[in-house]
Amino acid sequence: MKALGVRGDRPLVIVDVDEVLGLFMEGFARYLAGQGLEMRFDRFALFQNIYRPGEDRHIDIETGQVHFQAFFRDAVEDMPVAQGGPEALARLSSQADIVILTNAPGQALAGRARWLKKHGMDYPLLVNSGLKGPVAAALAAQASGRAAFIDDMIPNLDSVAEHAPEIARFQTVADVRLRPMAPSRPDLHPRIDGWEALEAAIAQSLETGGR
Ligand SMILES: [Mg+2]
Repeated sequence: MKALGVRGDRPLVIVDVDEVLGLFMEGFARYLAGQGLEMRFDRFALFQNIYRPGEDRHIDIETGQVHFQAFFRDAVEDMPVAQGGPEALARLSSQADIVILTNAPGQALAGRARWLKKHGMDYPLLVNSGLKGPVAAALAAQASGRAAFIDDMIPNLDSVAEHAPEIARFQTVADVRLRPMAPSRPDLHPRIDGWEALEAAIAQSLETGGR
């Protein structure tokens, strides 16, 4: 935590980027449009939503992965910000340390840091790969007071529940087109779409431990 520049003497908010602070699918869709491809919001999936215009079979997964890597290398700074996210984090940062925990290819680190700074979210940034439970648990163990974890992906939320059940967990999905399709487990991880209500729930969990 100290190496990250985190004080460690306050509660901790661990927050994801893609589909939480940024509209990843929208940014990726714009990038793909520049490559002559289209993103269809047909299901809560990534490569299976990428099509050549006019075709009804998605492109193969390997090609999708090439574009995914290229997006993170070349276009990760063009992603739209999730409405209200920077303002909510700014207010929460008066009572808690903020750590941004993103799963992204390593080459995205510098661009992602610039994107966060540009949008007023110049908080300590960790690039992770794989499920987030172990690193979230390690971070929370070094914080004073309560911790909260915010992500759009159920596997990450499940992983945090497994490795550090004391961390308050919230699921949020930033893109309104994805919200109806995103799997949820509201009995385990409260689902709150939209930063206004989410900020209030996070703040309350840091004060009371309630979820
Ligand atoms: Mg995400």
